[in-house]
Amino acid sequence: MISRPPSDLDPIALAQRALDSAQQTSPAVLFVPCPQGIADSGAFQPAQLATRPGVVPSEVAWTLPRDGSIDEGSAIGDRAAELRAAGFLLALEAEGWPTVGHERILAVRPDYLLLRAELVAGLRDSLTARAELAGLISFAARLDVRLIARGVDDQATAMTLVALGVQFGSGEHLSAPLVLDGAVAVPGDQVVGPSWFRQHEPRKLEAPERAALVATRVADLPEHAVEAPADDTFAHALGEIAQRVQAEHDPMRILNVITELLPRIMPMSALAIFDASWETDTLRPLVVAGQDIEALRDQPFPMSKGITGWAFMRGLPYNCDNTVAHPAASTVPGTERDDATESLLVIPLVAGDHRIGVLDVWRNGANAFSTRDLEHCALVAHVTAAAWHNAQLYHQLEDRARTDSLTGLHNTRWWDEMAAQEAARVLRGGAEIGVLLLDLDHFKRVNDTGGHAAGDRTLRNVARTLRAAVRTGDEVVRFGGEEFLILLHESGMDGALRVAETVRHAVATMPHPEPGPPVTASVGVAVFPANGPTLDDAVRAADLAMYRAKAQGRNRVAAAEPAQPSTAAASPRRVRRTAVPTLTFALQAAPTCTAEHRSSLSTDLRPQPHSSDVP
Ligand code: GH3
Ligand code: MG
Ligand code: MG
Repeated sequence: MISRPPSDLDPIALAQRALDSAQQTSPAVLFVPCPQGIADSGAFQPAQLATRPGVVPSEVAWTLPRDGSIDEGSAIGDRAAELRAAGFLLALEAEGWPTVGHERILAVRPDYLLLRAELVAGLRDSLTARAELAGLISFAARLDVRLIARGVDDQATAMTLVALGVQFGSGEHLSAPLVLDGAVAVPGDQVVGPSWFRQHEPRKLEAPERAALVATRVADLPEHAVEAPADDTFAHALGEIAQRVQAEHDPMRILNVITELLPRIMPMSALAIFDASWETDTLRPLVVAGQDIEALRDQPFPMSKGITGWAFMRGLPYNCDNTVAHPAASTVPGTERDDATESLLVIPLVAGDHRIGVLDVWRNGANAFSTRDLEHCALVAHVTAAAWHNAQLYHQLEDRARTDSLTGLHNTRWWDEMAAQEAARVLRGGAEIGVLLLDLDHFKRVNDTGGHAAGDRTLRNVARTLRAAVRTGDEVVRFGGEEFLILLHESGMDGALRVAETVRHAVATMPHPEPGPPVTASVGVAVFPANGPTLDDAVRAADLAMYRAKAQGRNRVAAAEPAQPSTAAASPRRVRRTAVPTLTFALQAAPTCTAEHRSSLSTDLRPQPHSSDVP
């Protein structure tokens, strides 16, 4: 989003500057203002802008002005139609409660609806505003419009929005403003380079109650030191800890090593290790050990709450000499003790610029920890955080190796590794899986007319369309060059045929800004296990059906014949496989995002760690 344009720039020059940065912000959606000044100007030519080098129109959303007529024939109305025809996305600002501008929304059918910061601020105290927003959300959902809240400045607001169902937002609580051009940055901005958008995975913020319950491991506090060790003993122990944790790939085992070894060198009454869940804005206890600590079990708490949250947000190791006296203190129910005077070390677990968790260590009595204790604990935490973060990266790489780098969909490695598991799960539960095999029609012509890059853009566009057309839990796989496989959970033939028709229609009508004929697809439909005893057999049956759809004239859906024992042998070819990227390839390749991800990148509801307060 361009939220702080240089004031001396005329609107058209500003729009061009914004589009020039579009190639850097890809694959995120870039929001560009389209004020009246632009809409009225004859120099503004959407079709030409759509072909500017580096511009992917489906990754640019123009924000139409709040005032002025949007009727057919009005300048804005015409502009909206031209922008849409050139393949761009459209955004509108909601006017205000209680009339958010339903007619405008219906007339423009924007892709995004923006809630201004003033509206968002009103939600905290006004039940009426919340009710208005709930109504707006269901209206927007019916039209397939996504809502973006601006001005999300604190956790209470973020959680109110999430609880009501708003998926996207921006604001101080979620991230510092990102600035691509360092010259216009002000203190507090995060200046980022061109690769930032490709390297950051978007995530959604979920209400904690909807997030999966964490299972906390409750350990016994192992035999522990009676007094703090001398420096050389500590150095030796630290070396041992480093060796042990670096050998582990599993985060839980890393934490178990710490729980076992830290008490041996650090007298303590209790210990807890939390994981920072940026999706739910909470700290989740993964391991607790020691005296009066069990009440913490399975109890995530808000990231900024209590002494632990306060120190975590600061990002620096903290020695609290008396927990009761600390202004940020808040007691977890069940852990209150009348006699309790406790000291606490809170050590944020920081790796690079990622705050990934917190280590808490308690001792009875006030002023129980020395500065040296704090330093020792911080060193152990440093080693732990590095190993833990490596383990997380390792898991991310595994995920990335199962992801197609062009479209962000699952690739055939995912299929190879997960399909058998899926099938086994289905057979156990007695449900069915709908299998759609989709092949783009005459796709060679897109490449021949617009070039390979146009073909690639089209494939990404199709991937986005497919993702949007199926339910969240369904799986979409790029199965070959221009072939896609969709697995529909708990779907029989009737349901699968309905989805296939929706998908076919969605592809045939998606905005397609490339030269050449429109894009269509032929879809073969089968059901596992009805059309084949293994998932591969069901895919072969869908493949045969897809060929029938081609033979019957393309741009259509065909159902598999009822299963026959010889289906596999009769298939004209084996189930296809594309080249699978190796792990090395995945390491080098920038991750791309699914359509869903792409649109949330720019408006990520995930709070980002602020690099400024990380040591
Ligand atoms: P039909 O399926 O309707 O019979 O015709 P088609 O033209 O789609 O069939 P064919 O399988 O002969 O061609 C598939 C084309 O898809 C050829 C290939 O160049 C193109 N293709 C495959 N993978 C990619 C890719 O990653 N990027 C681009 N741009 N093109 C690709
Ligand atoms: Mg093909
Ligand atoms: Mg084809």
